[in-house]
Amino acid sequence: MGAKHVGRNGRTFKLHAPVPCYDVPASTLAAVPDSLLTSFNLLPLSARETLRKITIPARDGRAWHVPAGAFCRLEVSHGPQVADVNIWNTHNPRERLYTSKTRLIHSSHLSVGDSLWSGMPYLRPLATIVSDSVQYGIDEDNAGVHDVIGSRCDPYTNAAMTGANANHCCHSNLVRAVLPFGLTEHDVHDVFNVFMCTGFMRSTGQYFAKPSPVVKGDYLEFFAHMDLLVATSTCPQGDVSIPCGSDRAPTCYPLGATVFRLPGLDLKHYTPPKVSSYQGVHGLASAVEQPDADSS
Ligand SMILES: [Zn+2]
Repeated sequence: MGAKHVGRNGRTFKLHAPVPCYDVPASTLAAVPDSLLTSFNLLPLSARETLRKITIPARDGRAWHVPAGAFCRLEVSHGPQVADVNIWNTHNPRERLYTSKTRLIHSSHLSVGDSLWSGMPYLRPLATIVSDSVQYGIDEDNAGVHDVIGSRCDPYTNAAMTGANANHCCHSNLVRAVLPFGLTEHDVHDVFNVFMCTGFMRSTGQYFAKPSPVVKGDYLEFFAHMDLLVATSTCPQGDVSIPCGSDRAPTCYPLGATVFRLPGLDLKHYTPPKVSSYQGVHGLASAVEQPDADSS
């Protein structure tokens, strides 16, 4: 008699073991060669050539460019604070971060070696995480840090829940941040939740958050595979230790960002990712070429 699962209405199902859907060797999808990562880790901080430093004020958003081949560091500069991050190809904002495919390819929570993938029809790494001081792993509640499972706090859901207008939600912070770059609200997309500790309740499947475990000095760094526009919101929920809708005010902090190059980086075995090699046209070409194939 095998294991059973009892559904909500009392129906019983055979309980199968879970099987990862995208179970391929990490090397198949690795966007940066080991030699690049090794070189990155060996080079001292003094080898970094800073291109830009950004402060994202508390409860606000900022956007900035990261050139291809450069790095971006997001840093907990003042105190525990989560960040909601959007990423676009600078030259084609239709190519932007696709969190749902990113989590299928890698995991619900990202760390070193995981890439941030663009959507179809491009489907290639926009950036790859090269350093993560947190490396929280997955805890006993199935929670992790740096997720690609949540969305972003926004004024529309807030209005539906509370009836109030909230103009400094992450969604609105990102909208204001990208306007100077010629983008609009319609370009803002589901986020990479950096420094946030999240998961799904085992009993109900509800999305949950725990207080962010990060401390001042924690950071996450990623490598840009192409010229990128990066936008980041400092979430008005701070470290997310207070549930949405509570009348207690969260403590919020600014975050720091640094764009830097590493002139001594070993790029010998590195090739920038190309757009997807898929050459078909969704079956449309064969239908045009063989109109009578099914009628003879
Ligand atoms: Zn938020």
